[in-house]
Amino acid sequence: MEERTEISSLGEFGLIDRLTQNNETKQAGTLLSIGDDAAVIDHFGKQTVITSDMLLEGVHFDLMYTPLKHLGYKAVAVNLSDLCAMMATPTHITVNIGISNRFSVEALDEFYEGVYAACERYNVDLIGGDTCSSLKGFIISVTAVGEITPGKYVTRAGAQKGDLLCVSGDLGGAYVGLQLLEREKRIFLESPGVQPDLQNKAYTVGRILKPEPRTDIVDWLNEKEITPTSMIDVSDGLSSEILHICKSSGVGCLLYEEKIPINTETKQMALEFNVPPTTCALSGGEDYELLFTVSQSEYDKLVLSEKISIIGHITDAEEGAHLVTNAGNKHKLTAQGWNAFS
Ligand code: ADP
Ligand code: MG
Repeated sequence: MEERTEISSLGEFGLIDRLTQNNETKQAGTLLSIGDDAAVIDHFGKQTVITSDMLLEGVHFDLMYTPLKHLGYKAVAVNLSDLCAMMATPTHITVNIGISNRFSVEALDEFYEGVYAACERYNVDLIGGDTCSSLKGFIISVTAVGEITPGKYVTRAGAQKGDLLCVSGDLGGAYVGLQLLEREKRIFLESPGVQPDLQNKAYTVGRILKPEPRTDIVDWLNEKEITPTSMIDVSDGLSSEILHICKSSGVGCLLYEEKIPINTETKQMALEFNVPPTTCALSGGEDYELLFTVSQSEYDKLVLSEKISIIGHITDAEEGAHLVTNAGNKHKLTAQGWNAFS
């Protein structure tokens, strides 16, 4: 039997002490961390960028197939992704949790292992949080703080006609990974003896369980002195994010199906699920890649990165937002993907 320590045996303060006892802060700007009423940070003249995201059990995650360590990592990662989407460098996080007595102290240790792994990987300090009891379900809320050279943050609103539309990494993998986990869960519930078949599916399952914020893309763009005109992270599917940029910037765009980067395993699995891979990229979510626009004059520099694909370009608002399919047809982009009837 695995060890199970009841949360009640430690009490709230005992639990917080246990979860934060090995917390080490590394950022020079961390003036005051866990242990007081609030934390204090100094960004030494840089501007502060701040974002929050909640994750609710049953809405955003299913503990049946989500290891707690991965969940802790992901809760941090998705927030850091929002900072990347502003071109900011993540520096600090706070973590709020709502927990019921269904959880053991060991389970929360595991969750925090994931939180600390993400902090370590992305050089971010955990500087506080809150701990509450929840009547039903596990509730997680992370706030992430980052820094940026004054005025250098990139919003969704600066895309201009003629700009190149770019995306990092590849898309649709997280959606396919989720379908896979849901399928294996149904099979398990029907016949608990059957082992999940996740052989050769490490990439897509990894995409949903352990997303990585693209700090490397932000660093690369900075290094090459490329300033995107607009940027957003891909949490809801490519279509929806493109429409956000178009709306905020007051522009239209042409997206080319053949240019959308999709991993081989994603393609294979999509076909197994009878979903066109392009649909997974357009409508599936949680890829946490960066979608951005850059001036055409940066083309020569951009093509140097294998991690970035140019998938289209920005047009006048009057032209709307369209997908040009491999067959050469033009479809209006909708938040769900694309409208086959226009
Ligand atoms: P307060 O009563 O002022 O809200 P708490 O007892 O909730 O203080 O928290 C004590 C300290 O522990 C604070 O520094 C707080 O930021 C930190 N803390 C509380 N819960 C967590 C958590 N889940 N993760 C990280 N730090 C936490
Ligand atoms: Mg508190």
